[in-house]
Amino acid sequence: MKKIAILACRNIRERNLCPGDVRCLVAMNRREGEFERYKGEDAAIVGIVDCGECEGNKGRAVLSLALMKGPLMALGESLDAIHIGSCMAKFCPRKEDILKVIKEKVDIEIIEGTHYYTPPKIF
Ligand code: SF4
Repeated sequence: MKKIAILACRNIRERNLCPGDVRCLVAMNRREGEFERYKGEDAAIVGIVDCGECEGNKGRAVLSLALMKGPLMALGESLDAIHIGSCMAKFCPRKEDILKVIKEKVDIEIIEGTHYYTPPKIF
């Protein structure tokens, strides 16, 4: 089974503009958007972490992803791919910086985007 993490926009999550991360989760269940690639495949979301913050430490996203690995390993689980949440992939002004750090530090498949539903009204 393919195990997937989502990296989401902290701004949106803190303001509760995407309660429960439902857009990403529904898209995964329906295999829509960037999750269409898993149609007919056994795949699951094992965690959702946020970018850290708008200002400051670009490494926070990497730290969050690294910290996820501990409990996953303890549970005998793996992490095979990271989807960059559509909130971040489409609108984040720091996306390229954050992705650069993740690509440098985390050896894992990175896919930009999750769902293509109407985004929260923030930007
Ligand atoms: S850095 Fe980008 S993804 Fe993170 S909170 Fe700010 S806008 Fe959202």
